[in-house]
Amino acid sequence: MPPSAPEDPEHPTDDTLKEACGVFGVRAPGQPVAHLTYLGLYALQHRGQESAGMAVSDLEEITVVKDMGLVSTVFDERTLAPLTGDLAIGHTRYSTTGNSTWRNAQPVYRDLGTMGFALGHNGNLTNTRALADGIGMLPGTVASDTDLVAELLSLDIEVSRAEVSTGADASAVPDLLGSALLRVLPRLEGAFSFVLMDEQRIYGVRDPNGFRPLCLGRLDNGGWVLASESPALDVIGAHFVREIDPGELVVIDADGVTSIPVFPADRLNPKLCLFEFVYFARPDSQLYGQSVHHARVRMGELLAEQAPVSADMVMGVPESGLPAAEGFARASGIPYGQGLVKNRYIGRTFIAPSQAMRALGVRMKLNPLRDNIAGKRLVVVDDSIVRGTTQRPLVSMLREAGATEVHLRISSPPVKHSCYYGIDIGNRSELLAANLSVEEIRAYLGVDSLAFITLDRLVEATGAAGAGFCTACFTGDYPTPVPDGDTKAVLEVESGDQVPNLLEGLAGLVDNDVPTVEALRISNRPT
Ligand code: SF4
Repeated sequence: MPPSAPEDPEHPTDDTLKEACGVFGVRAPGQPVAHLTYLGLYALQHRGQESAGMAVSDLEEITVVKDMGLVSTVFDERTLAPLTGDLAIGHTRYSTTGNSTWRNAQPVYRDLGTMGFALGHNGNLTNTRALADGIGMLPGTVASDTDLVAELLSLDIEVSRAEVSTGADASAVPDLLGSALLRVLPRLEGAFSFVLMDEQRIYGVRDPNGFRPLCLGRLDNGGWVLASESPALDVIGAHFVREIDPGELVVIDADGVTSIPVFPADRLNPKLCLFEFVYFARPDSQLYGQSVHHARVRMGELLAEQAPVSADMVMGVPESGLPAAEGFARASGIPYGQGLVKNRYIGRTFIAPSQAMRALGVRMKLNPLRDNIAGKRLVVVDDSIVRGTTQRPLVSMLREAGATEVHLRISSPPVKHSCYYGIDIGNRSELLAANLSVEEIRAYLGVDSLAFITLDRLVEATGAAGAGFCTACFTGDYPTPVPDGDTKAVLEVESGDQVPNLLEGLAGLVDNDVPTVEALRISNRPT
């Protein structure tokens, strides 16, 4: 009897890893910054599909529009037309700390009276609870790590503003947000690529490990751009200038770009997420100066050298398995062919209520090309195995379509550990490779042979072997201390939990003597 594997009860057919967000910022006076941001977010849609938003400033006032859904759902000509200004930031979200709700959609905005600021975050903090405890934050007061950072910045700005107003040169207009960043950023741990703005300036920050990407671009006719990935620069006609360095803060104002090192040298340790190369980043992205597509083809070539097999056709699992399949075919000399057709119009998550429907769910996404498959020994190349809930019915489909042998080749090593840096991999108990040996996984998936690329070959394939990578989900070797357990709801409290010492003013909202968390949420609900 084949070993059983864990399943994700919420998304039984959705075996993909989830990104943590895409961020974008542009300062280009005289240009349609909201439309540029819209196009940039569109190019970053793959990094988060739960919500989208942007903040636009006309140098005096910031306007924020955000909502649940895809970029194309949240914005249209009617919502973009009134968003005129000189600078803007934007965000597409997948939630890793804080649930998928309107309240947690970004950019997060804070109105501080005479000034305001907006913040978009890609990544996940690892010391969220300690930071919240440090400022005496009650559970449920802020619901995401990004919201907490905004709170820390707000508190710092309030203090500095009070000092400025009583100082000798009260007429000076200091960069309060920039100053707050210099004090708050060193307190943060984990993964963060931020874009921020006040009424006049755009800011970009990468954590000292540079877990998540962030790059700088320039528009021909003036203006500067920040984006998670370089294709977001391409779509608006901006030129790639450089990647933001790990631990670097850039401030973009009327005078251009200023770079400020924020972290002490002993905290700088470049560890770009290796999975950006394997799966997350767009193939047309440049990371560490290397083409992501080229790296994926090279992964397939090295995999063919590492784990050769006799077969009639090499095929990839669309979309992210295709470049590695191309490389495998090239290196092995086995003809490349198309074996699966992807439904281009299906949403990310297909809800499948029963076991029988789950197999159909995979078929909704991918359907075999029988004429290409029947009677053939197949090498099937995919980018990763997380829970195995996609690959198992896929292999059955290929055999039903007439494949005589199925040899599975994976262009990443076995995923055995959770990610705390902004990727929703799931708990260890859900990860197939954390629970089963390679031979047990082979038997569970029902393939004739199975091989994962080795970690050293994967790093070599990036073309940037010495640049520094996080490999923790493969090795368990986390570059920074990580918290125990699941962090997604670290700032949440269950509905109905009693919260002692809650704000007295809320007591009138409910009949009970001790107000519930639900009452606190009512008081915060957007109107
Ligand atoms: Fe990327 Fe894995 Fe590191 Fe997370 S643990 S940042 S997914 S390499």
